[in-house]
Order: sequence, then C-alpha cells, then structure tokens
Amino acid sequence: MPELAALDVLSPGSPGYEASPRARLVVRCHSVSDVVQVLSYADATGARIMPRGGGHCFVDRCPADGIVVDLSGLNRITVDDSGVATVGAGARLGAVYAALHASGRTIPAGCGDTVGIAGLTLGGGIGLLGRQYGLTCDRLVGAQAVLADRSVVECDEHSEADLFWALRGAGGGQFGIVTELRFATVPEPSVCRIEGNWPEGNLVPAWQDWAPDAPDGMTVNLTVQPRRITLFGASTLHPAETEGLLRDFAARAGVLYAIGIRRDVPYSMVKPTFRGTDQAGTRRRVRSEFFARPVSERTTGELLQRLTGNRRLAFTAMGGAYRRTAEDATAFAHRGQRFLLEETGDPDDPWVDEAWHAAHAEGSGRVYPNFPDLALEDPATAYYAGNHARLAALKKSYDPDRVFDFPQAL
Ligand SMILES: Cc1cc2nc3c(=O)[nH]c(=O)nc-3n(C[C@H](O)[C@H](O)[C@H](O)COP(=O)(O)OP(=O)(O)OC[C@H]3O[C@@H](n4cnc5c(N)ncnc54)[C@H](O)[C@@H]3O)c2cc1C
Repeated sequence: MPELAALDVLSPGSPGYEASPRARLVVRCHSVSDVVQVLSYADATGARIMPRGGGHCFVDRCPADGIVVDLSGLNRITVDDSGVATVGAGARLGAVYAALHASGRTIPAGCGDTVGIAGLTLGGGIGLLGRQYGLTCDRLVGAQAVLADRSVVECDEHSEADLFWALRGAGGGQFGIVTELRFATVPEPSVCRIEGNWPEGNLVPAWQDWAPDAPDGMTVNLTVQPRRITLFGASTLHPAETEGLLRDFAARAGVLYAIGIRRDVPYSMVKPTFRGTDQAGTRRRVRSEFFARPVSERTTGELLQRLTGNRRLAFTAMGGAYRRTAEDATAFAHRGQRFLLEETGDPDDPWVDEAWHAAHAEGSGRVYPNFPDLALEDPATAYYAGNHARLAALKKSYDPDRVFDFPQAL
C-alpha cells in the first residue's frame, strides 16, 4: 500500500476538510509527485478522486468516500519575456491578476478573487474582457496534467492535442488533474469602470437588445434584485465613446442616465470592485441557461413579478470574441449564444426552479459547465451540445476506470 505519511493530509475539522464533508481524505499537494502519490494511494484503495482548486464549485462533486486532491500548494505564477504566464493549478484569480499586473499583462478571466484559475479555465471562463479577447480557456496555450494512469503529460496544440481540446471548456475534474496552466497573456488595458443603479425600471428588454451587440471593447452586465437594478462592466473604448453608448442605452431603456464611469483604471483593479456578495460559503442556489434570443416581455414580466427577498436575476453578455471561435474548435460549445441568465435564491426557495422553467421555455437548452446544475434532465446535451460525442470518447480513453467520477460526469 503506498504511504500517505509523507503527504500533507488535512485533519478532520480543518477548514479545507469541512468544505468537502463526503470525503474520505483531503490531501494538500505541494508538487506533481505529491499528486502522483495520491493517485497511487487511490488506485490501491479503490477510491475515486476529486481535484480541488479554489473550491468554488456550485455543487459538491466529491464522490462519497472519495479523496479530494487539494492543489492549493501548487500556486506559483511566472511570466516569461514572450508574455506567456505559467500558473500553478492551485492559484486563485486575485493572485493571478496581481502577478500579471506586475508585468503589465493580464488574461480575460472572471470576477471573484478567490475563484480557482483551474476550475474557471477548464469550464471556459467568462469575464469583463471576454467580449474582446474570448474565454479564459481561449488564452490557454498549454497545460500539464497527471492522468488516471499516473502518467504526467504536457499538452498543447501539437502534443496530446485531444486532451488540450477537452481541457478548454468541458469543465474540471474529468480527464486528469491539471497541475499547471500556460496562458498567452495580453497587455493589461486601462479601462472605464462602469456602474449604474436604479431602484426600479424595466431595463431588461433594452439590455437584451443592446449589450450582446455592443462593440467588443465594452462588456456591460445587468443584475436585477428587489428595488435595485445594477448595470456594471468595463470598457476599453475611449471614455467619450463609452459614455455615448451608455447614454444611448439609458435612452432606449427609458431611464434617467444614472451611470458612473471611472476612467483609466487598470483592468486588474476593476475586477475586485465587482466581487459581489456570492463569496465561497454564502449558501445560495443558482440555476442558469444561455439564451440565443431575447426573452419575451411576457416572460420577463413573469420573472420580475415575484422577485422578492434574496432573489436575483443576473444577465451576462456574450457575443463579441466569444463567438468568433468555432463551437467545435474547443470543448466549450456555447459560442453563438447572446447571453447567460442566472436565477439565484435561497437554497430552499422554490422560485429558483419556477423562474428557471419560465425562462427555459425560451432558452437554448445550453448550460455553462462552470455553473453545474443537478436538476438538469439532459446534462450531456446542455453542457456539451455537439461536442458531447467527442468528449465522451475522450473520457473513455483517458479515464477508462472512471477514477474521476462525479454526478453528471461525462
Ligand atoms: C464568487 C464566484 C464568482 C464567480 N465568477 C465567475 C466569473 O466571473 N466567470 C466565470 O466564468 N465563472 C465564475 N464563477 C464560476 C466558476 O468559474 C466555477 O465555480 C469554477 O468551477 C470554480 O473553480 P474553482 O477552482 O474555484 O472550484 P473547484 O470547486 O475547486 O473546482 C471546480 C471543478 O473543477 C475541478 N478542478 C479544479 N481544479 C482542477 C484541476 N487542477 N484539475 C482538474 N480539475 C480541477 C473540480 O474537481 C471541480 O469539478 C464564479 C463562482 C463563484 C462562486
């Protein structure tokens, strides 16, 4: 039996352990050889494995009595002269943005500075620079992974190209344990930080018609809560052009121009200001779907009518660079969608399902793999659409014994 004694096994009761209550063991890895050793131990004991980066997954994917491989000890970040960043799979977004900022570089990635770079990238990665530069996974140029057979592989466009394809958008924990990610960074832009707030008003129809078709340099999302509607985002366009577009939007929506623009903010400084309230540990239920066309006024009215308490609708603009990559060029299959709609509420609030079903009648049936939803009837089609057959074949070849197995895995 392989020894665990030399490894950093977390004790029951520690915060890292409590996050995965169904786990048999939680092992914090500090090197690739630690990861290989945990896989050997799992093989000898027949345990299933769940890798963990930032620990932000919406559902507990740890198999009952499984082993959590916590990668937080692998968090080194370097940037070379050609602008390629090598990022340990345990790094969190806040640390990634800060390290890249020091080199005048960045990547298009999400909000939430404790979100793990690995989980985010493996499922796609939607963020405020995405309409200009694409998904986080679109900037991935290579990765290192430990496979189920304990081999350590490097993958990119030329080597293990199928694995590299699958790692860009299928969602984490399916093909192996990624230990390192390499990104082609972009120069960090100075942006206009955008935020507008209104106590009431029907901004949804105007936003749906406008935000997904805005110039690529502008990403403006919308959240609707009881008595608070917030428009927020960032723009790399000239401030005067940014303001002109926002004034046009306010006029279309029929609301007063109540939008603040803060100019010349480094992109990495804008992200933390939109952290929101859904930090790890906040218990909320989230359901979501992509939309290829606007939700009708009738359905929008139905959604808004019962928006009380902790209920929230969040609209995220797609379009731009997201759709300039073919749907089968990477595993992320939702390139042609106009926006993502999330319905969020307290864990036991039936409104989340009711609202999801009401909107679903007009939705595309596509669901973002980074927003897993255990209530989906056909998760394979929802997450992977036309890429499912290729992904299922790759799962069989890379993980034939389903060492990486969880509800809704491929
Ligand atoms: C507060 C908050 C803000 C968010 N903001 C955004 C956003 O702006 N844009 C966006 O696109 N998404 C966003 N998300 C969703 C986020 O992308 C997913 O929750 C993502 O899966 C989190 O990754 P993680 O590493 O933190 O989580 P984890 O729970 O650690 O991992 C998520 C999944 O990936 C697997 N995984 C993790 N690390 C590895 C690895 N090294 N190798 C293989 N598999 C691995 C895990 O097994 C799990 O299945 C947000 C989520 C939260 C909670």
